[in-house]
Amino acid sequence: MGKLFGTNGIRGVANIELTPEFIAKIGVAVGSYFNGGKIIAGSDGRLTSPMLLSAVISGLISAGCTVYNVGMAPTPTIQYTVKKNDVDGGVIITASHNPPKYNGIKVLGGDGVEIYRNEEDQIEKIFFEEKFRRAAWNETGECYGLRNIFDSYLEGVKSHLNIDLIKKAGFRVVVDPGNGVGTLCLPKLLQSLNCKVYMINAEIDGSFPSRPPEPRPENLNVLAETVKSLGADLGVALDGDGDRSIFVDEKGTIHWGDKTFALITKFFLKRNPQSIIVTPVSSSSLIKEIVETYNGKLVLTKVGSVEVSHKMKELKAELGGEENGGVFYGPHIPVRDGTMTTGLILNLMAEVKSTLSQLISELPYYYIMKDKVECPHNIKGVVIDEIAKEFEGLPTEKIDGVKAYFQDKSAILIRASGTEPAIRIYAEGKSREKVKKMVMQYKALLKNLIHKMKSDKN
Ligand code: MG
Repeated sequence: MGKLFGTNGIRGVANIELTPEFIAKIGVAVGSYFNGGKIIAGSDGRLTSPMLLSAVISGLISAGCTVYNVGMAPTPTIQYTVKKNDVDGGVIITASHNPPKYNGIKVLGGDGVEIYRNEEDQIEKIFFEEKFRRAAWNETGECYGLRNIFDSYLEGVKSHLNIDLIKKAGFRVVVDPGNGVGTLCLPKLLQSLNCKVYMINAEIDGSFPSRPPEPRPENLNVLAETVKSLGADLGVALDGDGDRSIFVDEKGTIHWGDKTFALITKFFLKRNPQSIIVTPVSSSSLIKEIVETYNGKLVLTKVGSVEVSHKMKELKAELGGEENGGVFYGPHIPVRDGTMTTGLILNLMAEVKSTLSQLISELPYYYIMKDKVECPHNIKGVVIDEIAKEFEGLPTEKIDGVKAYFQDKSAILIRASGTEPAIRIYAEGKSREKVKKMVMQYKALLKNLIHKMKSDKN
């Protein structure tokens, strides 16, 4: 049977792969899966999002669903709105951090969390077998507008923060939503927390003219410069749909997401020892060291935000995170949320009365290096099995590829890419030389193995 869903919903180039007729058909399949129930629908700010949002709503109505259209909003705001209202599920038209020509669709369960793999399979089955629930002409669904979702969302976020303390600190914050929909929520939260807010790239623009929608350190120089020149306390950059956040300290240093997640974890565990912290196996050992130091319990998952959300639900865990700037705060909703994460960072800065650069300098340091080796899809599995033999006798994790831990606190993860014909290498350790050596060593080993297996097949 065909596949529609990738790591994060259905993605493709708008109007080539994701045409309105295709998305309408997906809408009928989703509406059939929810048996004509109540669905909240919304989108990010991409140029093709209104077109595809109308298409998916059409399909949902055809299946007899009652649709509540929230229009443009950050992904986590739509997810929270689904959780808070008595509905069966949700759909979001978004391609998150992908380049402007892409779009996509995420399907949410009634709790606002993206549906899991087995539920995606059921929607794919309905789609490919065309087992649609088609409502009779006089029983097709209706669509209503749902407004004012932002206030209740922001109240939800604030209910988890020490508002008085943050207000008293009077932080100065530079926000870079990267022309994405995050601009609709984060500045409002900050203003209500008595922060002085400076915006760059604030206009919603689906052509993403200022920087790519993925907040990677190499895209955030303008933000870093602005923080420094204004003498602000913090800079925060969001991805295209506002669920990931990357932070800049008061000195203008950009920190990758593992640092800020480690910081949030440290303060969370100080207050809630013995808690479960969920993170993908690709996360830095920094997280492992922090969780061990502060008496938490680390649970690793496969790579992918849906994996983290569902593991959190299963274990009733309150905190999860990814190195790419996704922090999942369970008491709010166990999904990534850039606005909630910024609130948590300000909260801890206010509590310990310390700067972000100081707080991050107190964390243990790991050198990290990533690389990849090309490898045909059909032999990725055997190559991973073969390389795993190299690590016999060492502590290993085999959740997603193989991760081996060495005595000197260095570690290596070798896993098949979910999307590309490639095998990825993640190495880390306490010295740059050691990490470089590991990457070179295992890259050479992988190349040899792949070469040998390719010729065996011929
Ligand atoms: Mg995103």
